Amino acid sequence: MDSWKKKIQQGNRLVLFQGDITKVAADAIVNAANSSLLGGGGVDGAIHRAGGPAILEACKEIRARQGSCPTGEAVVTPAGNLPAKYVIHTVGPVWQSGDRDEPELLANCYRNSLKLAVAHGAKTVAFPNISTGVYSYPKDKAAEVAIRTVSTFLAQDSFLDYIIFVVFDKENYNIYQQLINKDKR
Ligand code: ADP
Repeated sequence: MDSWKKKIQQGNRLVLFQGDITKVAADAIVNAANSSLLGGGGVDGAIHRAGGPAILEACKEIRARQGSCPTGEAVVTPAGNLPAKYVIHTVGPVWQSGDRDEPELLANCYRNSLKLAVAHGAKTVAFPNISTGVYSYPKDKAAEVAIRTVSTFLAQDSFLDYIIFVVFDKENYNIYQQLINKDKR
């Protein structure tokens, strides 16, 4: 059994999993998109490659309706060939100096993605480490924002079953593990 499934059985709503988010069969997986919604590199490229053209088609329809997606906002599409039901595309902030509202904008990504998930009846949501790739947000600072924002949301929510933080690299895994364990003490 996948390690994250074991943790759910233990009644933990915050789950840490190291691997490829395109393989995660959550109700919704979150994409670290760019504001064009037309795909890019990193996790965005991986999601579009694995999910097939249906995701891009849906993104184009959203663009035709509302234009680009502002930083911190989120939109939802079907998940094409992925095992998830939905992809929630959110646009993380590009790290500049830390005093351009980056923490608030990153928190908005997590909050708005979770709101959208609940609105679509998604009970399990998987997040990548938004903004910590090409957008250069320091990994430790981004993890603090992610865990704090998701924990606060969960504390006020009784609909969601669990949230999976999908980390791709060992460095992020160690950062998340330390922070999640600290919160439990
Ligand atoms: P951003 O532009 O928001 O920084 P990136 O895609 O460059 O987005 O990186 C965000 C995070 O996603 C990084 O920590 C990167 O290691 C991770 N990542 C890349 N590919 C995958 C994947 N297939 N599954 C999960 N995480 C991934």
